[in-house]
Amino acid sequence: MIIDSHCHLHDSVFSDLRATLTRAIDHEVWGVIAVGCDPATNAKTLEAATHHGKAIWPCLGCHPEWTRLTDAAVEEVESQVVQHHSRIVALGEVGLPWYCLEGAPDPASLMVGGRERLGRFLELAARYDLPVILHAPHGAAVEALSLLRRHAIERAVFHWHKAPTEVTRQIVEAGYHVSVTPEVVYRQRDREMVEWIPLESLLVETDSPWPYQGEFEGLATEPWMTSRVVEEVAKLKQLPVDEVMFRLSTNTCQLFDLPYA
Ligand SMILES: [Zn+2]
Repeated sequence: MIIDSHCHLHDSVFSDLRATLTRAIDHEVWGVIAVGCDPATNAKTLEAATHHGKAIWPCLGCHPEWTRLTDAAVEEVESQVVQHHSRIVALGEVGLPWYCLEGAPDPASLMVGGRERLGRFLELAARYDLPVILHAPHGAAVEALSLLRRHAIERAVFHWHKAPTEVTRQIVEAGYHVSVTPEVVYRQRDREMVEWIPLESLLVETDSPWPYQGEFEGLATEPWMTSRVVEEVAKLKQLPVDEVMFRLSTNTCQLFDLPYA
């Protein structure tokens, strides 16, 4: 059994959550870490968890690439965290802007604002002893790592991780996790990282409903695909699937402080 460690169940494509979760169970995916991006998607995520308490673990976040989020929206997310901190398993999705910097009229100020916002969320994570699910791809990873250290955050995962190998090495040595998506099936960069990274530092996810290529082309991305990701990790590690599944599941349970099945 395995857990999808990053999924956007608030998305409107998941109108029939029961069916989605049943398909997941059929593929040995017994739970989903559900992230939010703004006040509305956070509320939807909490509601989904209320209805499917055994399969959905909710997180509250503020997506760093959602540049239209106002300061008032960020404050509202902070209030949601304060109000629901005992119900959630992590802060996420939070992080630093990267993709939106390209073509932005003033990328420097976006970065400064993003850094300031992430700092505020890391303060909340420290206050409530919550792990952090980070969006900090490519050049944003090294900066996110130094912010984690500055705020003395002990538990964090760099979701859909992509960064220079040296930065990834520092992340792992600092005791943080990185996660891979279905891209690991067909993207060389991800495959090479999985080959050398210690299994103890790895998580798996789908980032549903983000669409993938290769054998997933044209398929609606759902949590069940986590199973396929595990299979590929096992192949790359040259270990039995069951053993890898157990290890990755344990990593997820430990990071998010979930009860073991
Ligand atoms: Zn995401």
